[in-house]
Amino acid sequence: MTHMVLEVKESLEERCNQILRNMEASLTARDRVGIQDFVLLDPHTSESAFLDNLRKRFHENLIYTYIGTLLVSVNPYKELDIYSKKQMDTYMGVNFFELPPHIYALADNVFRTMQSEFNNHFILISGESGAGKTEASKKILQFYAVSCPSTKLLNNVRDRLLLSNPVLEAFGNAKTLKNDNSSRFGKYMDIQFDHQGGAVGGHILSYLLEKSRVVHQNHGERNFHIFYQLVEGGEEDLLRWLGLERNCKNYRYLVQGDCAKVSSINDKSDWKTVRKALSVIEFSESDTEHLFGIIASVLHLGNIKFDVDARGYATLNNNQEMHWLLGIPNQVLQQGLTHRKIEAKTEEVFSPFSVDHAVYARDALAKAIYGRTFNWLVNKINESLANKDSSRKTVIGLLDIYGFEVFSVNSFEQFCINYCNEKLQQLFIELTLKSEQEEYEMEGIEWEPVPYFNNKIICDLVEEKFRGIISLLDEECLRPGEATDITFLEKMEEKIGGHPHFVTHKLGDQKTRKTLDRGDFRLLHYAGEVTYCVVGFLDKNNDLLYRNGKEMMELSVSLMSCFHVIIYLPMTFKVVTQFKSSLVGLTEILMSKEPWYVRCIKPNEAKQPGHFNDVLVRHQVKYLGLMEHLRVRRAGFAYRRKYEIFLQRYKPLCPDTWPNWKGTAAEGVQLLIKHLGYKPDEYKMGRTKIFIRHPRTLFATEDAFQVC
Ligand code: ADP
Ligand code: MG
Repeated sequence: MTHMVLEVKESLEERCNQILRNMEASLTARDRVGIQDFVLLDPHTSESAFLDNLRKRFHENLIYTYIGTLLVSVNPYKELDIYSKKQMDTYMGVNFFELPPHIYALADNVFRTMQSEFNNHFILISGESGAGKTEASKKILQFYAVSCPSTKLLNNVRDRLLLSNPVLEAFGNAKTLKNDNSSRFGKYMDIQFDHQGGAVGGHILSYLLEKSRVVHQNHGERNFHIFYQLVEGGEEDLLRWLGLERNCKNYRYLVQGDCAKVSSINDKSDWKTVRKALSVIEFSESDTEHLFGIIASVLHLGNIKFDVDARGYATLNNNQEMHWLLGIPNQVLQQGLTHRKIEAKTEEVFSPFSVDHAVYARDALAKAIYGRTFNWLVNKINESLANKDSSRKTVIGLLDIYGFEVFSVNSFEQFCINYCNEKLQQLFIELTLKSEQEEYEMEGIEWEPVPYFNNKIICDLVEEKFRGIISLLDEECLRPGEATDITFLEKMEEKIGGHPHFVTHKLGDQKTRKTLDRGDFRLLHYAGEVTYCVVGFLDKNNDLLYRNGKEMMELSVSLMSCFHVIIYLPMTFKVVTQFKSSLVGLTEILMSKEPWYVRCIKPNEAKQPGHFNDVLVRHQVKYLGLMEHLRVRRAGFAYRRKYEIFLQRYKPLCPDTWPNWKGTAAEGVQLLIKHLGYKPDEYKMGRTKIFIRHPRTLFATEDAFQVC
């Protein structure tokens, strides 16, 4: 035993040195390609040096850099030859720091940690719109699809996991000014693994789809991809059956952004991919028929025009196609779109709409139908991904949620998206900067605190009970007839006017010194200032569908046969409050798992390869808290484990602790690491845990353990 232990010790030292040599080799190459882990930069790294390193690497097509185990990724805006099967093989089962940084290294490390510790993990992918989050999450999924054990059954699950992506992207992504394939919903996906590491199932949670896009798109933006795919790529027979023409220009809901055709998007071939994917994720022919029937109905709905009758009310020309597709009795459709049903004491009264009102009711119906269809789609995908086996599984969660967004005009949707990003930043702070430093304190480890900006103050401004923006908005929505967007604005001025992160026209611009219109309010978000136009806030939060709208949906044969259940449940909560509680649920899911991070950076606004805009990148480095993270990482310890767990695993490496150790776990660990030759500055002993500064020390120990 002693002989073996001696050998282990030697091989441990050799491993440590080898890892160190690899790192030093990367140090010598630093002039050309920069440094692959920011932790190795000069301890007094300035923001400029940080930026220099990112830029240098970016120009060498090295888009990935670590800060410890956090991965920073800069969008190259061009295809790089680094995602081949060969690359995947290279990264499989290799220690994190032994190869150049890569998203595969992170994916592999998460997987192996999950396997060895048999616990749950999640990867939080963040960054602003167009920074590369969705691409990163796809790369991770592809890596697991290739690296996990494969059997016929598992391959089946693997294909479904992979193909759920193009389907959800078709229905939930759209071209915006920031990104030609922008995710307009938030997505959290669990991948479930069995004991052997086989991917056996999955589950998707979706968050707040931007339904308003169905009926309105800003200039330079598109509706959801699926509409264009259907019109451009749909088979002749199908289009004829759906009563559609092969010309996007003929559909009101497709032309408002004036960019139905986009050079980076091939709707025709994407249509083929989606069709194929639908069959793999178990959509029957009849499911698919109904699904496209509904999508076509939305397009027909958008083309309905109203005339004014002699009394100034809306009338509707007979629209055969629409009626046929949705399967709603003609009479109901006619009346439903032009009248509002009011239930008086003993009878039903129909009050006629003005044309404006009728257009509103029509658009509300289109949004409701699309929103419901999207939820149904997610449920169907989940059914096909469900793992029927009840044995215990571990999961890796992938969170790819819409990034921080600032347009020239920002509305309710941007408010929700940016609020969501505040919450995720808060989670990041809680899990890294705050809890990490608190842990050192608790464990009695000497520590020089690193200051950081805590965005809790902004989260509170938005979500605090009774006086947060969400509460005030909901309150106004409960005063129909009296409240307007402007009374909502006034209420905010009254209740939160003094808040340092809130500005309106009336309150003056001392905080930002920029002019504001009367209908605007500005929030000073952690990621920058955003001016929101208050118009439409109440309406979008109410998400009102008139009673007859609901009835039409319930009477629709197509919708019913698709959804099989009463499709419209009365909404008791307002949109933003529902969103808030879904985010609380998400935070709980994430807090119960071990976190890993990918921070995506957008190098320029023009979506151009090779352009690295210093001002833009510096801003992101700042608000993503990367410098603070680096300081905590550098001063801190990459790895910590309870004494009991550490000892239990590694005690065979030392004759004093093997096979049975009678003393306290802390004493055992002390003996063990002394025997292994840990240097004093490599570790610290806390109250309940050992803290190890560099991962290489631990990797070497783990390697020695594997050998023994
Ligand atoms: P986000 O989800 O953060 O809004 P996406 O992941 O959709 O952004 O990326 C936007 C676009 O940038 C993609 O459509 C693709 O063209 C490009 N892109 C992002 N990541 C990469 C990458 N790793 N390699 C090549 N191109 C990328
Ligand atoms: Mg995205």
